[in-house]
Amino acid sequence: MPRSLLIENGTLLSPGTPGWVRRNHSILIEDGLIARVAPSGRFRGFTGRRLDATGQVVMPGLINAHTHCYSAFARGFTAAKPSRDFLSVLRNLWWRIDSALTTEDCYHSALLVLIDAIRHGTTTVIDHHASPGCVDGSLDALARAARETGLRACLCYEVSDRDGPPAARRGLAENARFIRRCQADGGSALQALVGLHASFTLSNPTLRAAAELGGDLRTGFHVHVAEARSDQRATRAATGMGVVRRLRHFGILGPRSIAAHCVHVSPREMDLLAGSGTAVVHNPQSNLNNAVGIADVVEQVRRGILVGLGTDAMTSNLLEELRVALWGQHFARRDPSVGFAEVTGALFGGNAEIAGRIFGLRLGEIRAGCAGDLAGFNYDPPTPLRGANALGHVLFGLSQAPVATTVAQGRVLLERGRLKLDLDEARINARARELAKKLWQRL
Ligand SMILES: [Zn+2]
Repeated sequence: MPRSLLIENGTLLSPGTPGWVRRNHSILIEDGLIARVAPSGRFRGFTGRRLDATGQVVMPGLINAHTHCYSAFARGFTAAKPSRDFLSVLRNLWWRIDSALTTEDCYHSALLVLIDAIRHGTTTVIDHHASPGCVDGSLDALARAARETGLRACLCYEVSDRDGPPAARRGLAENARFIRRCQADGGSALQALVGLHASFTLSNPTLRAAAELGGDLRTGFHVHVAEARSDQRATRAATGMGVVRRLRHFGILGPRSIAAHCVHVSPREMDLLAGSGTAVVHNPQSNLNNAVGIADVVEQVRRGILVGLGTDAMTSNLLEELRVALWGQHFARRDPSVGFAEVTGALFGGNAEIAGRIFGLRLGEIRAGCAGDLAGFNYDPPTPLRGANALGHVLFGLSQAPVATTVAQGRVLLERGRLKLDLDEARINARARELAKKLWQRL
């Protein structure tokens, strides 16, 4: 018996297919994939599970192309020293927190982030994990949270030489173990990449070993690239190369690899990224918060780079991130007419392409054969909604509307704004508060 779900009577909006809006349509999902999209009256004989989306605008499930599930316990932590630059932010806050995490912390932190993602219509999360105090098995803890929340997840462990070569080797081993596990499972919900922190914390031997691992396992890499200018300065001082050329030299770039940030890349480096097929993921809220700059997304797209959008753990709300991405491009060029096509293209086209490469599926569209991943927003458009202005409604209307429905892999995770999981959210929050308190005491 195929597992089937009919989402009926919605207004369908597929930003990845320009101009595509359908009123009073229904979506039939079978075995996790969209089987048919048609006017609502065409499904009278359907006998499976029905979900009424009357009053909702239904879009493809949102994809977060770069985040850190380990970060949830930082919320409200105030005992970090003030940081005047990006490296101090890492040393005073993130490296203290990630070093003190236990495996149970990682699992609960991931649950919080993933439940929040469901509440914001996100159905796929590409994560970058670090927990130097509990490396072995940490990705299994995240995978368990992903399985229990029903989301698609691509995980990796952030290899770094910041704690010395043995710690870097432990990180590589965790990537290797987990990638093999995913490949043995063979499912479409859980995937893995080789995670690397950033050029300035990676030695040549570690990069060589990582490249060898990625080659052996035929997988790509997920790495922070030129997030702050200091990454370029330190890399050039140590190796005589810029960050992108160094990563290319070791074979880290390629169509299965993700370079997060790329705030400080030269035109020549943009061409190397474009030529290699590497995806660049823009994280504007994080970049603004850390005062590292604003990536030139307009130029990156013009030079042929596949650009996506992530939240870098600042939020689970991709539509909020989209808005900030647009304001950032306006502000950087002092021109309110630039960037609209590029940033909406990053979220709806770029992220679907990036996730599609990783998960081996077509995502980000509402048509037969695509992933049965959808998000329904309670939204009664107060101005005409047509194909031609749909993205304007996404930015200025849907981004402010509550999410009523989230479906991933054909499974209902959120219905009428209520979680439909075998998880007790109040108990998860209570346990997370206990764990966060203990974590803060250890810092
Ligand atoms: Zn990051």
